[in-house]
Amino acid sequence: MAIYVPPTEREKKNPILPFGDHHDSPFYSMDVLSVSQFGRDDLDYIFGVAKEMRAMVERVGTFDLLKGKILANLFYEPSTRTSSSFLAAMERLGGSVIPINEVTYSSVSKGESLPDTVRTLECYADVIVIRHPEVGSAKLAAKYAKKPVINAGDGVGEHPTQALLDLFTIEEELGRIDGLTITMLGDLKYGRTVHSLARLLSQYDVSINYISPDILRMPSELVEELKVGGIRQAEFSVLDPVIGETDVLYVTRIQKERFKDAEVYKQVKGTYVITPDTLRKAKEEMIVMHPFPRVGEISMDLDQDPRAAYFRQMQCGLYVRMALLAMVFGKA
Ligand code: ASP
Repeated sequence: MAIYVPPTEREKKNPILPFGDHHDSPFYSMDVLSVSQFGRDDLDYIFGVAKEMRAMVERVGTFDLLKGKILANLFYEPSTRTSSSFLAAMERLGGSVIPINEVTYSSVSKGESLPDTVRTLECYADVIVIRHPEVGSAKLAAKYAKKPVINAGDGVGEHPTQALLDLFTIEEELGRIDGLTITMLGDLKYGRTVHSLARLLSQYDVSINYISPDILRMPSELVEELKVGGIRQAEFSVLDPVIGETDVLYVTRIQKERFKDAEVYKQVKGTYVITPDTLRKAKEEMIVMHPFPRVGEISMDLDQDPRAAYFRQMQCGLYVRMALLAMVFGKA
């Protein structure tokens, strides 16, 4: 006998949402806009589902959990990993995807507003994944959309699904998060992945080092936010003093496209290059991560080192995004 589950607020607004199996789950039909939405219990839950997804992919490859569901992949900025892993995640779950990777060829180039584009896409799709150059764009899209919206990067703001997969990778690789020292290096001003990851890490007992050129330091509001939360933080301009204590070296690209002045970019470009030599003083059991693309910050000579975790990190992205989709559709 089916148990009656009262409709959620979103269902009341939008009665055509198909019935899932777990309408009472807090994740059902949710927007994923910021890492601030997730507490430690949520993270444990997401990572548990991600592990199940990995087991299923390894066992059967593709299965029909989201058969009949459609995802709109709306990308106003370039992407390789985020867009293709959302596509692969949806297809491995048996669903399908409307890919809009080049908005220049869509009505956006005719001047269509973001609210109109998302309200159009939700006529055809059940969930919208959006990447946009403006901070707050995913939140704006969610305000207008009745269907769930997932933030795949809003300018220099946040990249919550990347941070979730980063944290999952750390736990998978090192077996824990509490007690670790995480060193973030590169463009900490414009790098949205480090903004989201630092916020997520602040829920754990960790120490964070920030290494950047002076003009690319971690935004002071964020440092302050974490300080209030009791996180140990330290800032440097070179890696050497902290490489020996580092458990996770999280390297980022200098975000060329965010610079108004090309000359200023040239001054900081190439500031850091991680090579096998850089890791000479590093722990045996530590990892090097990078959200990619890398444009010279990690030399390819490092790829053979077992501590180079960046390709395994990408693989984790598939499982975490599969988990999130299954949860948003009330199937996990
Ligand atoms: N792929 C990541 C992002 O979209 C990192 C980067 O582009 O450097 O933020």
